[in-house]
Amino acid sequence: MIDKEFLDILACPVCKADITYDEANQRLICTSCGRKYPIRDGIPVMLEEEAEK
Ligand SMILES: [Zn+2]
Repeated sequence: MIDKEFLDILACPVCKADITYDEANQRLICTSCGRKYPIRDGIPVMLEEEAEK
């Protein structure tokens, strides 16, 4: 489970924009570039090379 305060700290590593939590698909989506970052074992993988465009 990802909590709101933790989400506030995270930012897209590519464009530094805020990210939103896609709970249904267990991933984080950048509000600017739209990259999708996976969450593995409850840990967001905020790496450009791991992101889906
Ligand atoms: Zn981005």
